[in-house]
Amino acid sequence: MNPDRRTILATGALALAGAATHSVPAEAQISPKPIFSVPATTIPIVGEEGVFPVRRIYCIGRNYAAHAIERGSDPTREPPFFFQKPTDAIQNVAIGAVADHPYPSLTRNYHHEVELVAALKSGGSNISPEQALDHVYGYALGLDMTRRDLQNGMAAEKKPWEIGKSFDHAAVLGPIHPVPKTGHFTKGAISLAVNGTVRQNSDLDKMIWSVAEQIAKLSEAFELKAGDIIYSGTPENVGPVVKGDVLLCKLEGLPDMSIRIV
Ligand code: MN
Repeated sequence: MNPDRRTILATGALALAGAATHSVPAEAQISPKPIFSVPATTIPIVGEEGVFPVRRIYCIGRNYAAHAIERGSDPTREPPFFFQKPTDAIQNVAIGAVADHPYPSLTRNYHHEVELVAALKSGGSNISPEQALDHVYGYALGLDMTRRDLQNGMAAEKKPWEIGKSFDHAAVLGPIHPVPKTGHFTKGAISLAVNGTVRQNSDLDKMIWSVAEQIAKLSEAFELKAGDIIYSGTPENVGPVVKGDVLLCKLEGLPDMSIRIV
């Protein structure tokens, strides 16, 4: 063994001995520092200084009978199904603003889906429908924007929908309204107009699975947690938008939300 190697081994042994006999220095107990920062996704809350931190975005598919039919399924027999969007797909839209929304890449059939969104302050597994609403912090008006041609193309090939649903800016969202101010939403008119012409027009009471039932069903598949939000499905008459279109979303009991496709 050459002297250098002997020195290295000795130093290593000393270090091990030190670790065994001395307490760990305070600085060593701090978790490793990220090598760069990634912005957290948050949603403004009406009437609060604090913002809502987002953990996951869940979406339910085909939750209004007439929309299920237009998408080619039988609404009377199918259990609810869910998909996710990436958290940083959220585009926050302020009350009273007309936010610019970029027309995404790759699609030639970009669709609007207006939806009620529930935001959770707590969660769990196997939550009962009776207790589900206790976990809701508040509600918002949202748009589940969809590259329909890509979604349909992938579905036809029995491949994941991801590219049709889970792209940048695909989760358009108004601010969250805390439950004490609005109550829970089980009924109420929901609509979407494009350039002043109403395209989608329904009522929350036509949802096949209520928000409480969605939370219960979701919690069978995933452990829900504070910061999760749920897009609760869109009524019928989804359709395409093009650059320059102005979308106006309305939900009875909440302020309007508007975007312009650019
Ligand atoms: Mn949807």
